[in-house]
Amino acid sequence: MCSPSAGAIACPEHARLEEEYKAARDRMRNLIRLRKLTRMEERQLADEVAMAIARLKELAAKHGCERR
Ligand SMILES: [Zn+2]
Repeated sequence: MCSPSAGAIACPEHARLEEEYKAARDRMRNLIRLRKLTRMEERQLADEVAMAIARLKELAAKHGCERR
């Protein structure tokens, strides 16, 4: 159980998932900037981002520690 604190994410598990999400998002952005992606690549990258968001939301709901 972690308490919501101003701006910062208190629990390590949450911070890890946030990092995963950011990494997936950055990877997608970088690849899009670098070259034209195929439809499948784009879809796969978008899926990764979506899954990271889903995991984050699930954890936030369980912990009640979602950042505002
Ligand atoms: Zn938490």
